[in-house]
Amino acid sequence: MPKKWDKKCRSRKLKIMEDGEHAKSERHPSHLRGKEIGMFYARRAFLRRQQEKEAGIVRPERVIGEITLPASKIEELEKLLRSTLIYVDESNPAFKRKFDLLVNGRIEDHVNIRTFEQNALLDEKLKEEYDLRQTTPEYQSMLEKRKTLPTYQLKKDIINAVESNQIVVISGETGCGKTTQVAQFVLDDHVEQGKGSICHIVCTQPRRISAISIAERVAVERAEKLGEGVGYQIRLEKVLPRERGSIVYCTVGVVLRQMESDPYLSQVSHLILDEIHERDVKSDLLITLFKQILTKRPDLKLILMSATLNAEKFSAYYNNCPHLNIPGFTYPVQEFYLEDVLQRTGFTFKGFKSKHSKRRSKDEEFYSGFMEPYIRQLQANKTCSVEVCEMLRNPQLEEEVNLDLIFALLVDICETEQDKGAILVFLTGFMEISNLNRMMEYSGKFPRSEFLIIPLHSQMPTVNQKHVFERPPRGVRKIVLSTNIAETSVTIDDVVFVIDCGKIKMTDYDAEVDTYTLKPQWVALANANQRKGRAGRVQPGICFHLFSRPRNLVLEQYQKPEILRTRLENTILSIKVLQLGKCFEFLSGLMDPPPEDSILMAVSLLKRLNALDDDESLTSLGYHLAKLPIAPQMGKMVLFGAMFSCLDPILSVAASLDFKDAFMIPLGKENQVDQMRRELSSGWMSDHLLLYNALHQFEKRNGFNARQFCSKYFLSMSTLQQLQKMKVQFMEYLFETDFVDTKNHKDKKFNLNSNNVILVKAIICAGLYPNVGTISGKRRKFPRTMAGYRVNWHPKSVLSKELHFPSPLFVYYLKLKSTSNFVHDATIVHPLPLVFFGDKYEYDSTNSLIGLADKQLCFKCSQKTNTIIKEIRDKLNWFLEYKVSNPGVVDWTSSKEEITVLRAVMELITNEELGSTSFTDFDDNCQIH
Ligand code: ADP
Ligand code: MG
Repeated sequence: MPKKWDKKCRSRKLKIMEDGEHAKSERHPSHLRGKEIGMFYARRAFLRRQQEKEAGIVRPERVIGEITLPASKIEELEKLLRSTLIYVDESNPAFKRKFDLLVNGRIEDHVNIRTFEQNALLDEKLKEEYDLRQTTPEYQSMLEKRKTLPTYQLKKDIINAVESNQIVVISGETGCGKTTQVAQFVLDDHVEQGKGSICHIVCTQPRRISAISIAERVAVERAEKLGEGVGYQIRLEKVLPRERGSIVYCTVGVVLRQMESDPYLSQVSHLILDEIHERDVKSDLLITLFKQILTKRPDLKLILMSATLNAEKFSAYYNNCPHLNIPGFTYPVQEFYLEDVLQRTGFTFKGFKSKHSKRRSKDEEFYSGFMEPYIRQLQANKTCSVEVCEMLRNPQLEEEVNLDLIFALLVDICETEQDKGAILVFLTGFMEISNLNRMMEYSGKFPRSEFLIIPLHSQMPTVNQKHVFERPPRGVRKIVLSTNIAETSVTIDDVVFVIDCGKIKMTDYDAEVDTYTLKPQWVALANANQRKGRAGRVQPGICFHLFSRPRNLVLEQYQKPEILRTRLENTILSIKVLQLGKCFEFLSGLMDPPPEDSILMAVSLLKRLNALDDDESLTSLGYHLAKLPIAPQMGKMVLFGAMFSCLDPILSVAASLDFKDAFMIPLGKENQVDQMRRELSSGWMSDHLLLYNALHQFEKRNGFNARQFCSKYFLSMSTLQQLQKMKVQFMEYLFETDFVDTKNHKDKKFNLNSNNVILVKAIICAGLYPNVGTISGKRRKFPRTMAGYRVNWHPKSVLSKELHFPSPLFVYYLKLKSTSNFVHDATIVHPLPLVFFGDKYEYDSTNSLIGLADKQLCFKCSQKTNTIIKEIRDKLNWFLEYKVSNPGVVDWTSSKEEITVLRAVMELITNEELGSTSFTDFDDNCQIH
């Protein structure tokens, strides 16, 4: 572990410890600020829990209820258990050891790396084709365009640099031609030299949409069809080119998947990592990984491409490898700031709340130190009106993206600017894009005959996005409303005006409280520059930043890399399945190593999911979870769904949670959407079953009336179709690994229990554990996480409208802090699914309590009932583990012992919720806290 971290983490922890210890009083010490206050209380609660645990104290509110089985049931189960032959006697049985050996090798152990062999026949054929193509008018006309790109001017230098170095960094302004040209130069050079057969170039893109659009573009430039010399591959969609003498544009995820079976990418001659300045987790991972790969593959070339931003950093990371910068040509862009826009439009901000929201200390400094002197200067110079200066003084002006102001500016540009060039507006997300679009439509100021308004967002269906590049007919002005996707990955040539809202929406992960936050933040200078540059591609342009000049001075240089803003479970599973050794060691070699807390947190969750063992090696379950293209909790759900024969609903839930839910919320129709969601949720007290039912009803229609169904229930058809594709993909994995013997997820054999909603909820619970919460208070108003943090139901959750819950327990997937600490999706569950699938099971015979998760959840239970439950639980877990290590179909129609155990579990769980196995909930006499 690098010393620097260690010291930083320790000193931070120590400080909070001290605070926690000397301050036994109620409130936090007054010198703490912001996040520190939350950390103070979290730490104090943590210490208190530790003390309680050591002293064996169980707080009354942790006892959720009582589990009782009737004597006749106990007798019946005892009989059943006596007759089964599943013995749970070995802690590390042979089947597991065998599997461990198989999956826990090291990447270095791979020998015999196959590489390319030249094929003279193919070389000749490729050359002939190439020569022929060059004579076509299509090729020639595209070539003329290509020659105008700055990258084309450096063609020779690029080819030479790649030829004589194993690693090269190429940087250049967005739009200068890196992505489309560099791969073609290398391929064409090989073909010309008669060695096309040893060239297969893979070029990664951070987004699905850019992989497709670039591949299509390059095919057009080469005057050939997609799938000949150029193709693409993204998850669930691909058009692959020939194996040799070709270029594939793909997402980074696709390369990582390939490396699981072919770690040294033996079929690739050149790997281009494109757009690496974006610093997404997967690219960062690949950059580090290639330090190991290249030593074993001296013939493999690595080309790192980035915008001009921080290219030096990448070159330094690779021992100062050669760096080629492509000087761009962009026309000058004039920049204006918030104060200019206010002055220009005469806009007045009406949204000020009478009382200023409390300024945070950092902002206070900014307003007194930077803003005030600047405003005085404006006043002295009479550059801005008194009203504008007053508005600038109010921090609320900058708090949120102001669509009214953007609208006013758009109207102003369209009315006053002679130039009819396209306008590009940068917004933070889907909602803003759709709201602004609506405002423009309803205002009547942007008639279709004169304006072409294009919303651009990565989650919109790819087909609609092709207009973006096209020039509109004469007299029609193009206005693109986009997220930051138009900063680098999508280039629109004819933009002359840019409106930069100044914000960017980013998720951030706080390991300390295990929560994601999603809030609009200030852009970094790098983003602001990039946005500005978009205006000067074809002629001089104008950029309006909706932040003030003083704000511009205090913007960060770069955005935080994603690895520092995200949970690491998936990354760690990738590291494991790529056989890269201990994750701590590997992660500390990254360009920006993630904080120790996040790594510990992720490893601990993976251990709790039983994906990693104590030694941090992949367990058999972990192996499958790493292989399934889905977050580990959903992967677990899918495997259990197969074994419990309720696969179809579980696949729907897993796909929806992993991708996105299909509901849309059109402006002003929130209540109707709520109503439809409630209708589809059928009173099951579960957002997850709602997701299932939405997809289920869609599939049932089988294309018939599907469109009407979608519009009635506000569902996005393209999302539903994507979810269907994902289900098919999961099925393929289950088929390949023998968990199922058909690729049809509707097959009866794997859906015998799909109608048992209670079982389906239990399997969802098995997957989402340990994301468990309790609802306390007399009226069950206060949801909390298992660790005791207060949360609220997100308004879109069906539970947010419920007044009565049949059980005070719920499981959830996404907890996100935005305007409040929201649980976005939840399912109400009863205790037995948790007892069977939860971890750290213990029985406290003095108090007759079953405890789970270090007694964070406790249930009263007699010794006799506990004995029987524990035995069934052990047998179940042994069987599940056995099955995961020895995949095979679980045949529910057989009378094998294993099925008897599964069936017993299913019956117990079902009866509990139906009320015949009893669970008494202590809500009424529970202490409110
Ligand atoms: P870079 O990777 O340096 O940002 P690209 O290679 O992506 O640049 O783009 C180079 C040029 O090719 C762009 O300026 C644009 O004019 C053109 N271009 C790229 N993609 C398309 C497309 N799909 N349709 C039309 N033109 C495109
Ligand atoms: Mg590019």
